[in-house]
Amino acid sequence: MVPRVVYGRGSFDQLADILLPKRKNSEAPFIFLVDDFFEGKALQQRIPWLFNDQIIFISAEEEPKTEQVDALVQKISKDFDEIPSGIVGIGGGTLLDLAKAVAIMLNNEGSSSQYQGWDLVNRPALYHVGVPTISGTGAEVSRTAVLLGPDKKLGINSDYTTYDQVVLDPELATTVPKDQWFYTGMDCFIHCVESLEGTYLNAFSQSHGEKALELCKEVFLGELSQNEGEEKLMMASWHGGMSIAYSQVGVAHAMSYGLSYVLGTKHGLGNCLVFQHLQEFYPEGVELFLKMKTKQGIEFPNNLCSELCDSDLDQMVQIALSMEPLWENALGKNWRDRITRDQLIQIYQKI
Ligand code: NAD
Ligand code: ZN
Repeated sequence: MVPRVVYGRGSFDQLADILLPKRKNSEAPFIFLVDDFFEGKALQQRIPWLFNDQIIFISAEEEPKTEQVDALVQKISKDFDEIPSGIVGIGGGTLLDLAKAVAIMLNNEGSSSQYQGWDLVNRPALYHVGVPTISGTGAEVSRTAVLLGPDKKLGINSDYTTYDQVVLDPELATTVPKDQWFYTGMDCFIHCVESLEGTYLNAFSQSHGEKALELCKEVFLGELSQNEGEEKLMMASWHGGMSIAYSQVGVAHAMSYGLSYVLGTKHGLGNCLVFQHLQEFYPEGVELFLKMKTKQGIEFPNNLCSELCDSDLDQMVQIALSMEPLWENALGKNWRDRITRDQLIQIYQKI
């Protein structure tokens, strides 16, 4: 779990005080990895850089890649004689995962692709701080950093991945565009449904999942003010992340990984595109999801897969089915008897 967290509107301004005692000396910088949406915006002026700290703006257009992590680590090692005091990630799931991976790789040898999997990291990461600016993925609490590697999309799952400190400032999410707000917010909703309907469920996951689900309903079906909505969704993301930390996601995530690998569809949107067609697996969840979509006036792109050739569809299915723990969580130990390739192809063809 994340050992330290501050929460509140404007709490971003506590970052200077939080980092100060963690500065090793004036030669060991803090590296701020920041979503490039904030380049030239007011937030840039509020980043508490000192001495030779570095701010690196990064586009979240594409999801993080192992090559990108390795290149950043090389650059940082080349630019400074000393190992940095720490890494601060500011942005959505993309930047949060990137910063976790960079913090790990500054203290571990080789390429980040060697550590995609479970508990392969040998040495603790550098001190790292996460500041989410859009809510839903739960990347701020999770013990994984999802990376697209040379042959797979898989997280670096380890006890060293989790942030040492998180700053939750709901105000930072004010500028998120509505569509993106919905896609990333629905990632949280889908985490809840997949966790709560899964066979891996336990009291720990259930308690967090139920709270997150209740908050999602308030945010997407209720009549909240902008501030309340931002605050509640930030906490929903936190609880949703905690819920899957001790269970697993399910069918939507497995199939969305296939979409992402073949078409580059981003996580939040990909999950939405799949989830809308999963009535047979999550009947109540899909009904609620469609209500939220209508209430918020969101339209999804369509015909993404209708023109795909058989080999692309096959690859998607193969990637989806390779996510075995997700299927086992969703459908139980005998999941292979409960799902066919044709079923998955038919779902993809509806997207
Ligand atoms: P994102 O980080 O990809 O950002 C989506 C878009 O929102 C980008 O264009 C970004 O610039 C913009 N944005 C972010 N904050 C903004 C703000 N305050 N104002 C205006 N625009 C803003 O989105 P995401 O959905 O949070 O993250 C998706 C990523 O998270 C994927 O790479 C996925 O693999 C990962 N993920 C990780 C975990 C985990 O546990 N580690 C869980 C789920 C998803
Ligand atoms: Zn997710």
